[in-house]
Amino acid sequence: MTDLTPSISFEFFPPKDDVGEDVLWQTLTDLAPYAPDFVSVTYGAGGSTQQRTLRIASEVIARMGAPTYGHLTLVGSTETELIKVLDEYQRIGLHGVLALRGDPVGGPTAEWTATPGGYTYAHELVELIASRTQMDISVAAFPDVHPASNGNFVQDIQVLLRKEQAGATSAITQFVFDSGRFEALSEALEVHGSQLKLYPGIMPVTSYPQIVRMLELSGGYMPKATRLRFARYQNDEASLRALGIEIAVQICEDVVALGATGVHFYTLNKSAETLEVLKNVSFLDTHRP
Ligand SMILES: Cc1cc2nc3c(=O)[nH]c(=O)nc-3n(C[C@H](O)[C@H](O)[C@H](O)COP(=O)(O)OP(=O)(O)OC[C@H]3O[C@@H](n4cnc5c(N)ncnc54)[C@H](O)[C@@H]3O)c2cc1C
Repeated sequence: MTDLTPSISFEFFPPKDDVGEDVLWQTLTDLAPYAPDFVSVTYGAGGSTQQRTLRIASEVIARMGAPTYGHLTLVGSTETELIKVLDEYQRIGLHGVLALRGDPVGGPTAEWTATPGGYTYAHELVELIASRTQMDISVAAFPDVHPASNGNFVQDIQVLLRKEQAGATSAITQFVFDSGRFEALSEALEVHGSQLKLYPGIMPVTSYPQIVRMLELSGGYMPKATRLRFARYQNDEASLRALGIEIAVQICEDVVALGATGVHFYTLNKSAETLEVLKNVSFLDTHRP
């Protein structure tokens, strides 16, 4: 019988220092009982954490044993340099790559200029990975439309389909706060016969200024009612955190009901909130560790 339990996956970032690393290893230990279907390790803006991504990803594979994806961006890299990173990704045993364009220094809406000898769009990186490796390929998806796409949802769908044609098998979305937008993305892909597995990004909010900044930077959308509910608790950390968990649980329930392959947690290298969400979602009732 096919297991229809939605998958669970976690995103981690390479910590800046030893203290941050200790926190990450504890987070891995805390989350391990949920036996994630996969985990991913981010790649710093401008490739700044390339070596750290490699070292941390390697350690994550050893400690967690889950299929691990390394994020990779085009920022500041020639094709030759990208190939070198891919060789390293294969050497350390990564299961897959989350193939991304990355953002210009000025943020996602600033003008993008390709590095000489490098690529312009993420689908070119997908092609490179597919042509040189057996690694699985995932890509980014934007239920709220990519911030540089000027609201052109149709273009974003075409971009995703192009990445699928180039070899991507799944897409992880920007954090979702409006499940209706996830539904629209999912349906538009289905209409085009896409087989991409879709993993909606889940972010339990714990800080008001942080979420305001993240939404600004990513061009993500939060319904006004949700924003106002968070705003009410901007000076009450405990209530804000409780609301963040309540809303994350609701989004998980909604996207799973809508047929999402699984839920992908932006853990920010912490375990407490993700664990609380996982403890409260109904679809794990018979599978909870
Ligand atoms: C799950 C997830 C994880 C992420 N992890 C990281 C990370 O680790 N490190 C990091 O630096 N960033 C990360 N990002 C951010 C990401 O790099 C940025 O959002 C980036 O701006 C978009 O990357 P992309 O791969 O979607 O680019 P692309 O697919 O290249 O799209 C970028 C823009 O170009 C347009 N476009 C694409 N192809 C074409 C074409 N052929 N013709 C015309 N227009 C086109 C698109 O519509 C879009 O507006 C992540 C994002 C997500 C959702």
